[in-house]
Amino acid sequence: MTGHERTGVGLLAGVARGVVELLSVARSAAFRLPYPTSLQLALDRLVLAGLMQGHPVPSGVPELLSWCREREPTGWPLTLPTGFLTAGTRLIHPAAGEPTRTCAELASLGPDGVLEQEAESLLDGLADACGTVDRFAVCRDFLISRPVILRYDPMELLQPGVAQIWRLVKELYASVPDRFPADGLVHRCTGCLLLAKPRTAEGPWCEGGCTLDQRELEPSHQPEQTLVLPLALRLFLALPGRTERTVRSRLTEQARLLPFGLGAHRITGQDGKLRVFQVHDRIQPVPAALRAAEIASRLGGPLDIVVPDRLVARPGYRQGFDRALPVGAQVRLLSTSEFIAPRHISRPRRNHA
Ligand SMILES: [Zn+2]
Repeated sequence: MTGHERTGVGLLAGVARGVVELLSVARSAAFRLPYPTSLQLALDRLVLAGLMQGHPVPSGVPELLSWCREREPTGWPLTLPTGFLTAGTRLIHPAAGEPTRTCAELASLGPDGVLEQEAESLLDGLADACGTVDRFAVCRDFLISRPVILRYDPMELLQPGVAQIWRLVKELYASVPDRFPADGLVHRCTGCLLLAKPRTAEGPWCEGGCTLDQRELEPSHQPEQTLVLPLALRLFLALPGRTERTVRSRLTEQARLLPFGLGAHRITGQDGKLRVFQVHDRIQPVPAALRAAEIASRLGGPLDIVVPDRLVARPGYRQGFDRALPVGAQVRLLSTSEFIAPRHISRPRRNHA
């Protein structure tokens, strides 16, 4: 990555963090002024970069937000590495008005990343509160299976067996942001289990990006009884968590949870060596590879990144991921099928060292 490209990526990540901060405020738009400092700062930096290069720039935050909805970042006045983002991507979903998964992934990039890091920090706190890895594993699975509690039912959550878990995780839940309920209804997607909007200009939308054949939308008439995990845990824990549970259930030996970051797992490979894997579900292969390299570096050893088959099947996903891995990164990308297949160790780890 050249210096200009690094600056461009930094600028774009700054805008993404500003968008996330703006839309993370649960209150209605009327109470949201002024704009978050992070968004103002990102705008200033983008304008300066554009003016220095003689390119058109957004006139203010509202126009920058229009750009986030209407223009892909490759058309902005910043230099990005070739193939840094997939074609046609936006930071704000044009119809749903919500930050896209691309936006969330960009906001987590680099030393100033916020969203994935927030999820890691919340899970760190939970692991501390749990005291033992086994109890943490149970609580983490609870969060994965219930990112959105459509109807809070104290009778269910205070049952013996669940009550102890609920006591440890309940602080992580909050009421549903008030831009989600529409006509007195709030919706959850049966595919990704995340929040959904049944009517947008482009039809139904859900946070996990499920296709119509993968899901239905489940309504609740009592939005005040709906509890949701923060966006960070919805996208970076619960969304890949569905795939992680499939992977774990199909391994021949039990994977051991490491209370590290979002949670990694350790198993013994066919060669008898310990292997660590983390399951990801990220739409942008290049930012995903950069984050994976950071995680492997913190872990201090080789890391397998396991992703849903449908992601690896996307044209250019694997190539983009592998190409973006920094020199020496001890990371290997595997689809779920490759990872659980008996011969999965045949794919060489990409390691330029
Ligand atoms: Zn969904």
